[in-house]
Amino acid sequence: MTTAERPAVLLVEDDAALGPLISELLEPDFSVRLAVNGSDGLHLALTQSWDAMVIDRGLPVIDGIALIKALRAKGIATPILILTALGATDEKIRGLDAGANDYMSKPFDAMELAARLRALTRTYGLPAQTLGIGDWELDAGARSMRSVYGSVVTLTAKEAGLLETLAGEPERVFTREDLINALFHPTDQPGVIDTYVHHLRRKISKTVIRTVHGLGYQIGDPHD
Ligand code: CA
Repeated sequence: MTTAERPAVLLVEDDAALGPLISELLEPDFSVRLAVNGSDGLHLALTQSWDAMVIDRGLPVIDGIALIKALRAKGIATPILILTALGATDEKIRGLDAGANDYMSKPFDAMELAARLRALTRTYGLPAQTLGIGDWELDAGARSMRSVYGSVVTLTAKEAGLLETLAGEPERVFTREDLINALFHPTDQPGVIDTYVHHLRRKISKTVIRTVHGLGYQIGDPHD
């Protein structure tokens, strides 16, 4: 029964040392199944139910980006964290655009990976505190957006934070620097905001966030 109590995590990692090591480090909190190539990962992802997946970017047979795209194309909405090479910003952006919810760069801290997986798999028993955005409701705590027509979009913590910040002051135009200071690390480049905005528009609606040219961003009026 312990397996049922711990979130089930599918780890797709071909590195013969790293795969078993990550599994072992996560095992106290998660029930981990290791797949060592993209093809086995795809099969397990499609045939079993998972609370989260950790997918390496570089994998034999089917690479990590192609695997994530294939899963999203099949309607698999499970949170995915992609493991990328250190400093490879293009890999992070490609991973997020392919449908990953979060990323970590190798080498990484196992405790941080576990914390991110807890965040990705967390559900709250408290009454939802929701914020209306057009025809949608944001539940920042549960990291989801739900439209009145029934669509549900799962958000990463950063995506939910960005929407919550913008929707909390709907009249205000936020500069990229405002948003960096509110949500990111001061050394992060302002372009990271554009990446998240781009991602949210793809996930929810082109109109969820308005670009105010020369100034920054403001909450919009998303349509389902
Ligand atoms: Ca690899």
